[in-house]
Amino acid sequence: MLNYILPSEIVTPMKISVKTRNSLVEQALQTISRSGENGIFQTELCKTFSLDSRDGSRLVGNLEKQALISREKILYNGRWTYKLIVKKPTISEIEKRQVEINSVEGAPCFSCNYQHLCSSEDDMSQYSPAKCTWIAEWVLSSFSRTLNHQRHIDL
Ligand code: SF4
Repeated sequence: MLNYILPSEIVTPMKISVKTRNSLVEQALQTISRSGENGIFQTELCKTFSLDSRDGSRLVGNLEKQALISREKILYNGRWTYKLIVKKPTISEIEKRQVEINSVEGAPCFSCNYQHLCSSEDDMSQYSPAKCTWIAEWVLSSFSRTLNHQRHIDL
């Protein structure tokens, strides 16, 4: 397994570049993903990335919030930790996603590389719909297209 040597402040928002933080989150997710159905202990993940428990919790909390992993509390070597497993969508979740998509067609979020970091609840996040210029541009262009379409109908 690869061993990334990073300072423990690495996942604390604002202290590091967005690129470095994104890279760490992606690498952590890949590491959890590679552990397959057996998962990986949170303590192992922290050791791999040289994170203290606070930053490790923050990182996996972020992934859990984005529904990318599941966390199961477990006793390991006499200490409580979490088993981290990558989430695969269930059939019902996939079915729930098959909704009317006309209104969201072309939305940048579907192909956004930062979707897993984007939150409308976390004020510290660099990525949120309220701050996002990509979504603002998309809303404006969709609105403009709708207006043009309406004008053609009215003529
Ligand atoms: S709101 Fe912006 S940053 Fe967030 S997922 Fe959509 S495109 Fe990405």
